[in-house]
Amino acid sequence: MAFDDLEYWWSTVRKKRPRPHEGIDFFCYEDSLGKVHYLTQHLVPAPCHGRVVALCPDFLGQSVFLHAEKQEGTSGMYVLAHISPHVHVGQILHEGDGVGQVAAAKGDVPAHLHVSFLQGDWRDLPENLSWPAILAQKKLRFVRPFSE
Ligand SMILES: [Zn+2]
Repeated sequence: MAFDDLEYWWSTVRKKRPRPHEGIDFFCYEDSLGKVHYLTQHLVPAPCHGRVVALCPDFLGQSVFLHAEKQEGTSGMYVLAHISPHVHVGQILHEGDGVGQVAAAKGDVPAHLHVSFLQGDWRDLPENLSWPAILAQKKLRFVRPFSE
């Protein structure tokens, strides 16, 4: 699912999201032989060098907040969501290091990796960290994590 999408992609009936999608979802990929692979239990690589600044539960697993310096000096955090993390707060990761495995499906929601980029200072993350608390923190803003 793309950034800012307004409907859930896993629902067979059109179901509106309460707000635009805050990131990009990765559900499957096709290899060079045309075989489709689903991300069930896949190891998630760190998208960049950075420090793990927080972890919080989400509706499928956990979300890992990886502090990153983006190009043009934009500072913020990658949020890798719906995973079972192998990392802890304070840990330094290099690009490509394993962060955790994609968490299992729950109900009608298939296993998938969600990637967000949260622009702002990681010290502005709410103390009782949760997705609703982040959305209420006006100093932090979700931006498109990659060009699609
Ligand atoms: Zn998502």
